[in-house]
Amino acid sequence: VEDRESEAEPGAARERMLALLRAQVRDERVVGAMGAVPRERFVTAELRVHAYADRALPIGEGQTISQPLMVGLMTEALRVTSEDRVLEVGTGCGYQAAVLSRLVREVVTVERVPALRERAAALLDELGYTNVRVQAASETLGWRDGAPYDAIIVTAGAPHIPRALIEQLRPGGRLVVPVGDRRAQDLVRVEKTAHGVELTRLGPCAFVPLVGRGAWAEAGVIDASRSIKV
Ligand code: SAH
Repeated sequence: VEDRESEAEPGAARERMLALLRAQVRDERVVGAMGAVPRERFVTAELRVHAYADRALPIGEGQTISQPLMVGLMTEALRVTSEDRVLEVGTGCGYQAAVLSRLVREVVTVERVPALRERAAALLDELGYTNVRVQAASETLGWRDGAPYDAIIVTAGAPHIPRALIEQLRPGGRLVVPVGDRRAQDLVRVEKTAHGVELTRLGPCAFVPLVGRGAWAEAGVIDASRSIKV
């Protein structure tokens, strides 16, 4: 029923998504921003009927748009203000960047897959999110040229807390990152303090792998240094 309604008119499905978010996300600004971003525009036409369901959806290239509740919890965990500059690692379809752009001064988002990056940049532009800058991923995780950031969100699963990203945070800045194995992770908030970092575990999650130096090898790529020669 939910899906069919949203095909004709996303309003009712969107209201259900917002009610679910309000039950678990205390920051009203976050729920307000998610209510204002047309999530149905970030998925393909055939998936549009599911746009407001509380689940991740495929966006091509083996990647996914995150489940709305996860977007809400991660955005809240960043504790952003309207003055902040935020880095996102993993643009995907651009939905999380659009939500953040309504809450902060500037969003820099990096994506390693060119097709996704180009599609997201065009859509964000079309929808008028002018304070979002979409960048190609560099060899180092994140985007050093724009550092330091007030907050960094990683929307792919890392094998450990990426040191390169802590370096790109200002003191007092927050990093929210899924950390674990390739299939399942814990959502972790890292606060950079004058003395080091403070970690908070926020709960279990499941993201596609963060790929690159300091993270996972690309799926299907065999690490030659580990192969046994006979
Ligand atoms: N935030 C996205 C969902 C991202 S899915 C959204 O709102 O739709 C995770 C994305 O991270 C994928 O698109 C993947 O290509 C990208 N990614 C993986 N490793 C990366 C890296 N090292 N740098 C930048 N992007 C990366």
